[in-house]
Amino acid sequence: MNALLGVACPHCAALNRVPAARLGDRPKCGRCGRALFEGRPVALDAASFDVHAQRADLPLLVDFWAPWCGPCKAMAPQFEAAAAQLEPGMRLAKVDTEAEPALGARFAVRSIPTLALFLHGRELARVSGAMPAGEIVRWARANRPT
Ligand SMILES: [Zn+2]
Repeated sequence: MNALLGVACPHCAALNRVPAARLGDRPKCGRCGRALFEGRPVALDAASFDVHAQRADLPLLVDFWAPWCGPCKAMAPQFEAAAAQLEPGMRLAKVDTEAEPALGARFAVRSIPTLALFLHGRELARVSGAMPAGEIVRWARANRPT
């Protein structure tokens, strides 16, 4: 398969075209020159969210969180560890629902932390409550499209 995948840059949100077979070869962004994958979640705002969730071709796993939420803080290093395992086949991202209330409202996030998996603008699955890294990875793999 030489399919080209749309991969949104975690730094500048430019949409790059990367051959599927080369995802693991440390591809760089054609606009800003920085690495497209760094093994950690990317913080999204309303504008970059739409590029990653709708225009990109990688499943996007979003952690909806807030700075005042204790369980969210406890889960942050677990989510980071999950990113190292799930990239580059999946993009992991964080949405601060306090800084980006419109995104939390748009997806009717009622409790945090909430994880939601998106592809091409469609929400595939969602789960609430803090989870350890292994459970995040299992859940994401079980719910991503094959
Ligand atoms: Zn870039």
